Amino acid sequence: MGEKKKEHYDVVIIGGGPAGLAAAIYCGRAHLDTLLLEKTMMGGLATNTNTIENYPGFPEGITGPELTELFHRQARKFGIKFKMTDVKDVEFRCDSRRIETFRTVYDARVVIIATGGRPRVTRAQNEEKFLYNRGISFCATCDAAASEGKTVMVIGSGDSAIEEGTYLTRFAREVIVSVIHDEPQMDCNETARDAALANPKMSFAWNTIVDSFEGGETLERVNLKNLKSGEVTPYEVDTCFEFIGYEPNTELFLGKVEMSRRNYIITNEAMETGIPGVFACGDVREKNLRQVVTAVSDGAVAGVGAEKYIAESTRFERDILQKEKIGLIYIYSAIDAPSQELLPIMREVESAYGGQVKLSVIDQYRNHSLCEQLGCDVEPMTVFYTVDGEIVETRARCDRKSIIAQLNKLVDDPVDVVESFP
Ligand SMILES: Cc1cc2nc3c(=O)[nH]c(=O)nc-3n(C[C@H](O)[C@H](O)[C@H](O)COP(=O)(O)OP(=O)(O)OC[C@H]3O[C@@H](n4cnc5c(N)ncnc54)[C@H](O)[C@@H]3O)c2cc1C
Repeated sequence: MGEKKKEHYDVVIIGGGPAGLAAAIYCGRAHLDTLLLEKTMMGGLATNTNTIENYPGFPEGITGPELTELFHRQARKFGIKFKMTDVKDVEFRCDSRRIETFRTVYDARVVIIATGGRPRVTRAQNEEKFLYNRGISFCATCDAAASEGKTVMVIGSGDSAIEEGTYLTRFAREVIVSVIHDEPQMDCNETARDAALANPKMSFAWNTIVDSFEGGETLERVNLKNLKSGEVTPYEVDTCFEFIGYEPNTELFLGKVEMSRRNYIITNEAMETGIPGVFACGDVREKNLRQVVTAVSDGAVAGVGAEKYIAESTRFERDILQKEKIGLIYIYSAIDAPSQELLPIMREVESAYGGQVKLSVIDQYRNHSLCEQLGCDVEPMTVFYTVDGEIVETRARCDRKSIIAQLNKLVDDPVDVVESFP
């Protein structure tokens, strides 16, 4: 294959689930040139669910495909470009972000990672046939209400399996739990285990794993194999909930952004990953609740973060690191009186140099990432001196005399403190 095509965007979003689509809506409304890359199906995991009953605004519920198509339509309205392709590689550097697909290399000022995750499956016989809407579910919060009066099976004995299984007893007639361990051993916390063992609606199949799934259009039976005796026992069930783990789609980003022990991406509340210009949102990040409502909320925060980051880096490149004059950059805080008092003095100094010096004033709290680009933890009243776009000197807590002394070393035509400021 020849050389790959090269394209440039303000923002590239990886993943077209609820988080990626919400981020796209915010980027589109901010008029950022934005591309969203999706490898399988626009809408993400939520397209696999029949009814979403807990997304605000739809009191009668809405199907996953319908809801995510609305998200997609709204993002299209704001001019987002979409491509169905699998991202194969990424490279994040301080000054550049590169995303590679089969045919193209994209260069982006901001990357938003919204690749979500996937539930871990048992890989037992016929499992594929019944996944999602056909009887095998991975989400009690989503599908519990549909289990009213039914017999359900839960696979697993970790915190999620036992806590979600206990929650399901509020709806289901009977909850049968397949546990791989000897009675009464489980992988969950003791409180959940004791509550489950005491729950009259829960029963346990100890030392078992799934041998196969059976049914017609939908699941009818789960065959459990006893690991000690080898015996296979059929259980007639309406739904089977698998809680044997959830895996984030983060293989691409290993070693490139910070991750938790379980390989979820770690972000702060602003969805920043710690790599400048790289955000992560939705199920892919380490967090407490993985639902559509939290994914879109993350996406909104990431979209706004992208807009702010681009505005600040544009200012940084064009204004602050300008090469025409000697730069005088002043960081102040709107809530710090002494740093505000120095502001008019800074302006006087700039005009005293008669066009040789360019002053840029930065409010520390409103320009967070810009301050980071200048050097982490800058204090109010920090002064930077730049020549040809390079920072040559940084000083904290300056006065007029010392600022002029420093500028005089840099300009062609120095000024006299006494003459200029009588
Ligand atoms: C069966 C089921 C039922 C659910 N029901 C509900 C419910 O009723 N209510 C609710 O609120 N939540 C529900 N959820 C949870 C909800 O679907 C998720 O929380 C939500 O979809 C997360 O959105 P996301 O955008 O973060 O990730 P995802 O929806 O997982 O989207 C990520 C997208 O990224 C794409 N992607 C991954 N890697 C790449 C790559 N390398 N290149 C390009 N694209 C890539 C994927 O193909 C995917 O489309 C359910 C989940 C499941 C599994």
